[in-house]
Amino acid sequence: MYIAMVSAECAPIAKAGGLGDFVQGLARELSIRGNQVEIFLPKYDSLRFDRIWGLTKVYEGLWVPYYDQWVHCDVEYGEVDGLKCYFIDEHARENFFRRGKIYGEPDDANRFAFYCRAVLEFMLKSGRHPDVIHCNDWQTGLIPVLLYEIYQGLGMKHTRVCYTLHNMGHQGVTGDSILRQVGLKPERMMVMERMLDPVNHRAVNLMKGGIVFSNFVTTVSPRYAWEIQHTDQGMGLQGLLQYYDRKFGGVLNGIDYSVWNPELDPHLPQPYGPDTLPQKAASKKALRQRLGLADVFKPIITVVSRLDRQKGVDLIRRAIYFSLESGCQFVLLGSAPEPAVNERFWGIKREMDSNPDCHLELTYDEELSHLIYGGSDMILIPSVYEPCGLTQMIAMKYGVVPIVRRVGGLADTVFDANYSDRPFEERNGYLFDELTESALEAAMGRAIGLWFRFPEYFRQLRVNGMRADNSWNRPGQSYLDIYHHLRN
Ligand code: ADP
Repeated sequence: MYIAMVSAECAPIAKAGGLGDFVQGLARELSIRGNQVEIFLPKYDSLRFDRIWGLTKVYEGLWVPYYDQWVHCDVEYGEVDGLKCYFIDEHARENFFRRGKIYGEPDDANRFAFYCRAVLEFMLKSGRHPDVIHCNDWQTGLIPVLLYEIYQGLGMKHTRVCYTLHNMGHQGVTGDSILRQVGLKPERMMVMERMLDPVNHRAVNLMKGGIVFSNFVTTVSPRYAWEIQHTDQGMGLQGLLQYYDRKFGGVLNGIDYSVWNPELDPHLPQPYGPDTLPQKAASKKALRQRLGLADVFKPIITVVSRLDRQKGVDLIRRAIYFSLESGCQFVLLGSAPEPAVNERFWGIKREMDSNPDCHLELTYDEELSHLIYGGSDMILIPSVYEPCGLTQMIAMKYGVVPIVRRVGGLADTVFDANYSDRPFEERNGYLFDELTESALEAAMGRAIGLWFRFPEYFRQLRVNGMRADNSWNRPGQSYLDIYHHLRN
């Protein structure tokens, strides 16, 4: 099967969070199974060019409609760990993709709308007819709309679209001039059945367009699928998702074990696995050395996260103090897009400056994240909501016991050491329900108590997590089943 993955992110060359891992992991799984997979990305100036092999121009003079004009683009091709990637290189006055970052610009909606039109224009002009275009999140919500409204009429009749929702917190709600930018008619699109935002009746909702016009819609865990249909986690689109129930489902993400595997990880001083767990101590030592932490008999509790309100930043802050009060060490690797949140964590960092049991690294650092997973004992994920969450799955593979709030994909992957109804071999962590400090502390207290008092039982929890199969194998098959269903 011929699958085109269109996205704003792909690890390791353009990653801001889990979406990047998703595209990389699913693309690799589909390729291994013998499918023809092509990944499409904007040619950001912030790409990790050192990880792209043989980047060359393969299409010159792609003229992309933009309002009533045309913008000149080229398309480049390169391989990333064996995956085929096409990069839209625009030469617009606005420099859409030359901003030093992926997101966070005032004209993000326009930038990605342009990207959608450019990808389809390239497919048309280069004679590509994928069986399935797999789109992701609001940035590519216009692809199914444009395919149905414009490109099917130009000959792309057989291509079907699968659309994956990674986060309902960002829907691409914007003014309707964007419709004219890409060649759609506002009077046709600004109606409730198509792209009108259900809350703001003067705005267009790009994610809604993606849901309405694609052939199948998925989200990244079964629990989140239920939450966004039946609770306010749908952020205004719950009614729409109920209406399209027949083309909607949750597929739990996997993680890529060729990237996340302590038995193969080049960032660790010594490899280890479930049968060689004592060797994990070398990573703990290396982590302490790297961050200047004391080498003492204490567990290391970790957070690796975007410091977004979604991630429960107030509870993360409380957890730092609670960990230290409970005789543990604490490590945080996180970047905060919001200046107020950033400032608060910098305050804590300054306060902890000379504390040998605490280190905050307020940046994005892929390499360091590997060593942190390798060296930690527990990871904390107190999210307000969590569509899937990869950090708990990565952590478990590294023998790190997760302490998580029972929401979204966290509830689908973490099974409580004490209260789960699963057999013991499947229990792998700690859960709490309420978004309160006391609930957080109760769960952390159980985990910390076990580490100090029953190390053998704690070891067993680590091993259970390491043995869980969170690979792309099962979700890869689920997506292939969906694609086959669409093609037939
Ligand atoms: P989200 O997509 O909401 O950010 P996920 O848990 O799905 O959350 O994915 C997070 C991914 O980003 C993981 O691979 C995690 O290791 C990585 N990550 C998050 N913050 C950082 C950071 N500051 N430095 C390095 N990697 C990070």
